[in-house]
Amino acid sequence: MLTALEQLEAAAAVMNLDPAALEILRNPLRELHLSFPVRMDDGSTKVFRGFRVQHNDARGPCKGGIRFHPLETIDTVRALAIWMTLKTALLDLPLGGGKGGVICDPKTMSPGELERVSRAYIRQAASFLGPEKDVPAPDVYTSPQIMAWMADEYSVLQGHYTPGVITGKPPAIGGSAGRSDATARGGIYCVRQAAALLGIELSGATAAIQGYGNAGSSAHKLASGILGMQVVAVSDSKGCIHHPEGLDHEALAAWKKHTGSVRGFPGSTAISNDELLGLDLAVLFPAALESVLTADNAPAVKSRIIAELANGPTTLEADTILHQRGVHIIPDLLCNAGGVTVSWLEMVQNASGYYWKEEEVHARLEERMTGAFHAVHSAALSYKTSSRTAASILAIGRVAEAMKLRGWY
Ligand code: NAD
Repeated sequence: MLTALEQLEAAAAVMNLDPAALEILRNPLRELHLSFPVRMDDGSTKVFRGFRVQHNDARGPCKGGIRFHPLETIDTVRALAIWMTLKTALLDLPLGGGKGGVICDPKTMSPGELERVSRAYIRQAASFLGPEKDVPAPDVYTSPQIMAWMADEYSVLQGHYTPGVITGKPPAIGGSAGRSDATARGGIYCVRQAAALLGIELSGATAAIQGYGNAGSSAHKLASGILGMQVVAVSDSKGCIHHPEGLDHEALAAWKKHTGSVRGFPGSTAISNDELLGLDLAVLFPAALESVLTADNAPAVKSRIIAELANGPTTLEADTILHQRGVHIIPDLLCNAGGVTVSWLEMVQNASGYYWKEEEVHARLEERMTGAFHAVHSAALSYKTSSRTAASILAIGRVAEAMKLRGWY
């Protein structure tokens, strides 16, 4: 939360934002705190706690994922909701920002328990949600299957099928083609633009990925497949591995599916998390959780480009150090916005009942991401500031304009 607020304030100072607009943006419009009982497989009843934060809807319905994590807190959800308001505005999507979470450990739960938690969360939050109010999506440890259960529960409550209440659904029930790798794909389109600006040849260049889930594993596939890069190191919550000649995506994804981790992948050696972050790379992709690049480890980072697929992976101190050292950061607001962009395309398709082919989704995504990348780069040059602050300035400017027009200040 602190990082998100500091970021808001840093950008507000550079752009001379009206203090009233800043005060509105510092506070979420609405917050829902939930607790709900769930019958566990052993017959016991467990009470789970969850949240939904609607940060700002000046530009359209709130939009943002639901995270299932044992260490989830209202503060994290608030910060993530602020970033969603800024991200949807930066990509000029007609949406606001929200976020949700449930305190639970999906790794220790059966599919039946996960389904009952997902449905109970939606039953409690239903009056808060809807295609014109607030539209959740997947985030850390939530999947298309979980989105399917949630869409079903909401539809049962409404008495009719309402696919537009949630995005990231499987295509068979109204999900968009191209949604599953959209977050990583958007980041890859940005990396291509950044490398062109910096004169870096990506084909054969090295990359490492921290976090090997939806965003990270897709980034591996696309960095090698689209950009021809060699992904030499990856990590997940159980370990980090290194292979100087490059890791094969298909084999590694199959290994992780089979063993539950990247750890022990044949031919690789184990390294520490700090060693991964300090490798000499063309591109480092943080794709796990918040605040992993700090003032302590930032001086050792040797990557030319940091592509922030995770939300909030870099603290403000680390950002200053990296910016001063000439590392090109593609900030999270921009780099991982491919997910929400294709989620918005999913909402458009759900509302019209007409579905596009994967290539059409990719083309629309690339156009949006490339446009936003160059807008951020130009703003960074004209305000003489970092790409992170420039991205926030563009986004805050759009939200502030909408709030002003609506008479909020
Ligand atoms: P996920 O649950 O699919 O994967 C998370 C991965 O991170 C897992 O492989 C996990 O093992 C790993 N991990 C957890 N703790 C770790 C640690 N300490 N060190 C290394 N790895 C660790 O989640 P995801 O959807 O891929 O989300 C990852 C990040 O991307 C989050 O910050 C999320 O907010 C952000 N993001 C995701 C989307 C999306 O569409 N999925 C969109 C925008 C942003």
